[in-house]
Amino acid sequence: MPQRTHHSFDVAVVGGGIIGLAVAWRAQRHGMRVVLLERAPAVATGATHAAAGMLAPVSEAHVAERELLALGLESAARYPDFVAQLAQASPLDAGFLACGTLRVARDRDEAEALDRERAVRERLGLPVERLLPTAARRRESGLAPTIRLALEFADDHAVDPRAISAALADAFTRAGGELRTGAEAAALTSAGDRVTGVALASGAAGDGASIAADQVVVATGAWTERLGGLPAGARVPVRPVKGQILRLRDPAGPGLMTRVLRMDPGYLVPRGDGRYVLGATMEERGYETDVTAGGVFELLRDAIELVPGLSELVIEEVEAGLRPGTPDNAPALGAGALRGLHWAAGHHRNGILLAPITADLLLQSLTGSPLDPLAAPFAPGRFTTTTKEVAA
Ligand SMILES: Cc1cc2nc3c(=O)[nH]c(=O)nc-3n(C[C@H](O)[C@H](O)[C@H](O)COP(=O)(O)OP(=O)(O)OC[C@H]3O[C@@H](n4cnc5c(N)ncnc54)[C@H](O)[C@@H]3O)c2cc1C
Repeated sequence: MPQRTHHSFDVAVVGGGIIGLAVAWRAQRHGMRVVLLERAPAVATGATHAAAGMLAPVSEAHVAERELLALGLESAARYPDFVAQLAQASPLDAGFLACGTLRVARDRDEAEALDRERAVRERLGLPVERLLPTAARRRESGLAPTIRLALEFADDHAVDPRAISAALADAFTRAGGELRTGAEAAALTSAGDRVTGVALASGAAGDGASIAADQVVVATGAWTERLGGLPAGARVPVRPVKGQILRLRDPAGPGLMTRVLRMDPGYLVPRGDGRYVLGATMEERGYETDVTAGGVFELLRDAIELVPGLSELVIEEVEAGLRPGTPDNAPALGAGALRGLHWAAGHHRNGILLAPITADLLLQSLTGSPLDPLAAPFAPGRFTTTTKEVAA
């Protein structure tokens, strides 16, 4: 069936990673006419493609930033419903795995860090169980006998970022949304202090045309700085943070590890079918995405020490992705400095976790409803000037 083509939209979402897709689906489902513009030939080719899909709201960094901890906990709590609603809207499996997590320590320092995390979780009323090595190995027989301590987080699950993105794109188009791939936004267009739409890059599908939209959501991940048409004072600064990551497959099938395994500094995420994702490095190298021998070596060395059976697995993919990081490493969510401009950018290490809450908050922003107080610390205004200043 030929797709309907609108000449003007209520909302244009720029960027087809998990964040743009989640926002576009929510807005379209709410009854808005939405176009999603993705410059690549397919959706989810950016950070979302690389991501492991760990849903881990509590980490030492988050505890230091209480607001991000609260946002992550709320998003994790919304995940099961988000995935259930998605299952109603698309037959594609979102790859949500309610597997729980084990965090393991190899030495005294790491064991102390585990006890600190346990205390935080207990204070927050989150389920946590302290396991001595034998008990941990009874639950995960693939673990090495050398581990010193483990914590089990029964509520920290995982999702396959590529699978959930495909399901979101499908749900969005089934709801009547217009998905344009190969459509690079060169610049936002505006008149006075109001956004009027998006100008496509020449050579992009759409031939350098402009798309009129009453509201525009910027969800361009690590490439946000490259989007034109925004005055300096209206721009949220976003830098790329490189992460190398491996995809492994067990020819013997599933079972080597059934839970997410968090270690210092990496993690191993099972997909439940014998595939595993092992990540990830954190590197400030601009837009460079080389996979290096040292990066891969470090990931494998630490993981094989903890799960010796990993050495038998087949390496299926090595990749480096670019996390979108703002100066405070927290996302920018909600209305921007021009009328009709909204930000859903800068999710750094947590964009997969934060997709459900981001979609809900952006829908509030797009419909002009008061934003959940949870969103206040993430207002784009902490980086930009006010609407009046930009217009002046
Ligand atoms: C190695 C690695 C592991 C990770 N693991 C996890 C994890 O376990 N859990 C977790 O919660 N998070 C994880 N993350 C972080 C997570 O991947 C990101 O926070 C999230 O994917 C950001 O989503 P996004 O949609 O904002 O960006 P992206 O997925 O990068 O999407 C941005 C999209 O915008 C498009 N685009 C850019 N500019 C334009 C333009 N001008 N016009 C049109 N389209 C444009 C790009 O092509 C891209 O598709 C990981 C990241 C990496 C790199």
